[in-house]
Amino acid sequence: MILTLKSGVKKSDVDALTRKIRELGLTPHLSRGAVKVIIGVIGENEHKYKSVLESFDSVESATPILKPYKLVSREFRKENSVIDARGALIGGTRVAVMAGPCSVDTRDNLFTCARAVKKSGAHFLRGGAFKPRTSPYSFQGHGLAALKILAEARKMTGLPVITEVMDTRQVETVARYVDILQVGARNSQNFDLLKEVGQSKKPVLLKRGMANTIEEWLMSAEYVVSRGNKNVILCERGIRTFENSTRFTLDLNAIPVLKHLTHLPVVVDPSHGVGVRDYIPAMALAAVAAGADGVILEVHPKPTEALSDGPQALLPVMFDDLMQDLRRIAEAVGRSL
Ligand code: PEP
Ligand code: MN
Repeated sequence: MILTLKSGVKKSDVDALTRKIRELGLTPHLSRGAVKVIIGVIGENEHKYKSVLESFDSVESATPILKPYKLVSREFRKENSVIDARGALIGGTRVAVMAGPCSVDTRDNLFTCARAVKKSGAHFLRGGAFKPRTSPYSFQGHGLAALKILAEARKMTGLPVITEVMDTRQVETVARYVDILQVGARNSQNFDLLKEVGQSKKPVLLKRGMANTIEEWLMSAEYVVSRGNKNVILCERGIRTFENSTRFTLDLNAIPVLKHLTHLPVVVDPSHGVGVRDYIPAMALAAVAAGADGVILEVHPKPTEALSDGPQALLPVMFDDLMQDLRRIAEAVGRSL
């Protein structure tokens, strides 16, 4: 249920109301919009308490949220959420570009890549340390050593860093080294992991599970937000269909659908969604044209040496060309890059 408070409500009134909500065994989630203060009231049978809460003088209206996800819904927050990751914004007018290798392999390759993507205008550096591989015999990531290399690259370039966290036991360590925690497609419904990153102070980029509906994905986001971490970025990365000429089918439909259903920023990952180097730029441009708040792209200076996802890595020169085209598309849809 959403409580919209009257304009100019006093802090003591808000406190009294949140106390009452807790007394009823419910959880209040406060959100200060541009004009109004809104309290999301979450709990079992919350609708039963509608009239009790409406009787408070400070309450203008109490509206039940009928969707199964609440805090991430557009009903809960009309304005788009803008997420700040170490000073770089996602969800504002600027389209965010995250770029880097699938996985951190050598220090040299990562540094070369970081310098190149920075020079071309990327805003974030990506790189996997813990890799969710289909085969247990494939490269699993350099783990802690890779986190340290990423932190060095951040120092060198000033780019905030994003990396995947696969396990609840890794969250604290990964959060110490990087600026955005990525939850991968294969872990999109790992509810314990979602609860754990929900308690982190770091923003979370939540990929769509390859067989998840948009509603299921939003429920996953709700797990994170309901644990207290409001800084969730959704990332469309392709779904499984019968089509096999590309690695997955990038569901660009998801962009306008999500913009309607949720206030969370939406980023698109055409690298995994398409999986074929030469087709990726077109889909990155299409994502921005369709209203994505950002793109995340795999780039590698020597794709043949990459320990994962070499065939979908853009060469730095391709990434540079793409950035110029992205800038034009961003401007055409009233944004910047
Ligand atoms: C990745 O970003 O390298 C990755 C493994 O992505 P996904 O979880 O979308 O497959
Ligand atoms: Mn990858």
